[in-house]
Amino acid sequence: MTGVFKAVCFWCGEDTGITMPKENYDIKTDGDEAILSYVPCAGCQTKMNAGITLFEVTAQPETPRPEIMPGFFPTGYLFVVDEAAFIAAIKHDHVDTVLAQRYAFVPTEVIEMLGLRKKKEENDG
Ligand SMILES: [Zn+2]
Repeated sequence: MTGVFKAVCFWCGEDTGITMPKENYDIKTDGDEAILSYVPCAGCQTKMNAGITLFEVTAQPETPRPEIMPGFFPTGYLFVVDEAAFIAAIKHDHVDTVLAQRYAFVPTEVIEMLGLRKKKEENDG
């Protein structure tokens, strides 16, 4: 395969403006657009800079996409929460780590428990 892929943001689906040689990827698509990484686009990064980003993940893949970290498969949903609200809501040993790195990988069940998203069954229905 020759030519270049136009990289699309995994999180929002927007064109990132980045192109990469198709020969570098084992992606089967007839088109020129592809998700090449989990790196957020400039627009998503700007939104993420406003607070703490919670990336929703599952323990098992829901799509053929690779892990974002070992054992964590991103669903594509991310939630930017206010730092003070995050500190108030989360009682966890790793809060300081999350505050330092500005993001966390959060299981779907916890996302639903926090009220950030309706249960999947309700969304799918
Ligand atoms: Zn984006």
